[in-house]
Amino acid sequence: MPRNVYAAEHEDFRASVAEFVERTLKPRAEQMLEVKAVERDIWKEAGKQGLFGLDIPEEFGGMGAEDYRFNAIAAEVIAGFNFAVSSCFGIHSDVCPPYIVDLGTQEQKERWLPGMANGELIAAIAMTEPSGGSDLAALKTTAVRDGDHWVLNGSKTFITNGYQADLVIVAARTDPSKGAKGITLLVVEEGMEGFTRGRKLDKVGQEEADTSELFFEDVRVPDSNRLGEEGMGFIAMMQRLPQERIGAAVANTAHAFQIFRETVEYTKERKAFGQPVGSFQHNKFKMAELLTKLEVTQAYVDDCIAAHAEGKLTPVDAAKAKWFSAQVQNEVLDECVQLHGGYGFMNEYRVARAWRDARVSKIWAGSNEIMKELIGRDLGL
Ligand SMILES: Cc1cc2nc3c(=O)[nH]c(=O)nc-3n(C[C@H](O)[C@H](O)[C@H](O)COP(=O)(O)OP(=O)(O)OC[C@H]3O[C@@H](n4cnc5c(N)ncnc54)[C@H](O)[C@@H]3O)c2cc1C
Repeated sequence: MPRNVYAAEHEDFRASVAEFVERTLKPRAEQMLEVKAVERDIWKEAGKQGLFGLDIPEEFGGMGAEDYRFNAIAAEVIAGFNFAVSSCFGIHSDVCPPYIVDLGTQEQKERWLPGMANGELIAAIAMTEPSGGSDLAALKTTAVRDGDHWVLNGSKTFITNGYQADLVIVAARTDPSKGAKGITLLVVEEGMEGFTRGRKLDKVGQEEADTSELFFEDVRVPDSNRLGEEGMGFIAMMQRLPQERIGAAVANTAHAFQIFRETVEYTKERKAFGQPVGSFQHNKFKMAELLTKLEVTQAYVDDCIAAHAEGKLTPVDAAKAKWFSAQVQNEVLDECVQLHGGYGFMNEYRVARAWRDARVSKIWAGSNEIMKELIGRDLGL
């Protein structure tokens, strides 16, 4: 089905991102798996390519695109290459910048945004704690005021880009008596005394992502690193989660679509009983179903992209796009593994890795259950 969400300038940008994937990412695919990280020179190359500054105003070294469709194009192309790299880049360029652009002081913007745009500074956001992620308002990491500093104590886990990040937006409890209204955002920087990282976590998939635990022991964070008003951290996160969730939906759909296309080619070549496996009616029908599911999902996600580009995407519609695309992505990839037979279970095949990489999309950035909770609440239930 033709898509209507993008114009010629977006498609030109798609070509430029695709060229970056061919030139820089594909030759490093195996190495990223070995070192369990996207190495720094790749970040800098992506910065030069203009992938990271889309949400950053020109005066701070970004593109100032102010058109979410460019972000969506970048997410589509990178997710088609590799879901882990798209999550690392997405957190850095799609999730973190709006916090600093919208809430930062002039001095904070000058200090951090140019480096984020050119890939010199890698960003992460740390909300989830070992004791829980879904109930964000119950977070336990504390920050206690001491003159013009905050003394930060606690830990975070499952943090994307956590091992390499130069700056981490940390959600901390600054007023234990106020629940969600007692949470403040502080930027913790590499080198601050008392800030340490655990190992790169051993995950079921997405080995390329340096997901880590973070520890804070009496870290003295200057008040000049506070993002936004004291006590407004929870609201700031809720306001920006729709962009994280539509970004997830875009990547989920693009990732599954790409592997589906590769699977169609595989089933045309692979033979059983003297004929291509894709030509058996069962498999042909299966692929017809998968393509239909993908295109129907894509249509809804595209509407969300267009709405977000106009500043009209609601948190509830973003939640629908996120859970549904994650569900479809996982269903499609599971069938793609099946269509590959035994090779589908071999790590050297892209389909096998894609299947493992995708599992987390139903869990992170708000699980499918939490998305349905939001939708249900909106129904007045
Ligand atoms: C690879 C990876 C990368 C991540 N990156 C980041 C990151 O960069 N930054 C960050 O802050 N976090 C990150 N996360 C954390 C992620 O957002 C959380 O794992 C997620 O929000 C779920 O929290 P939890 O793991 O504590 O599960 P829990 O909150 O313990 O939930 C356990 C189960 O209970 C269900 N559940 C919880 N509450 C309800 C309810 N009210 N109704 C119905 N079911 C419910 C959940 O859906 C889930 O199935 C990442 C996680 C992973 C795995």
